Amino acid sequence: MSLLSSRTMTPPQSTMKNKDLYQIVPFKKFPNTKAWKLTSEYVRRKSRTYRADWLKGVKPPEGTGICYTCYALMPLNKLVAGHFREKRGNASIYFDLRGIRAQCYRCNRILHGNYGVFMLRLLDEIGRKEIDDLIKKSQKPKQWTRAELLKIEKSLEQELKKIK
Ligand SMILES: [Zn+2]
Repeated sequence: MSLLSSRTMTPPQSTMKNKDLYQIVPFKKFPNTKAWKLTSEYVRRKSRTYRADWLKGVKPPEGTGICYTCYALMPLNKLVAGHFREKRGNASIYFDLRGIRAQCYRCNRILHGNYGVFMLRLLDEIGRKEIDDLIKKSQKPKQWTRAELLKIEKSLEQELKKIK
């Protein structure tokens, strides 16, 4: 069943009322949204393409991925999707894939995101211009509606099919 056309915000009439779609989703609910779960799934699966020197070009075994900041290899379900900077107070970049990478528990939690290394790797990967843009975006207030999160879901469902 198609939820939303990628070009329009027309809601699926049968599943959700208009007024529900334009409801604001509170920040503290973000981790439980389907949009975030798919974002995390996508980011963790993409970690299989990170270029860790020690892998010498060999693809990680099925079901495993790589921590962006320490290059540890681990099962995909042990990785988390980490933001390039503190996400609290930066709702506008919460779902921006440019600034989200897979991390191990140690880098994400114990080292609080390992931001120094994260930033250097991101600089090499996407460049200064994109990072400046992300930072600028993060400083703008943003409230997400359910309709917007549905749009993210739809797009990620498509992307996940491509990298399965
Ligand atoms: Zn790590």
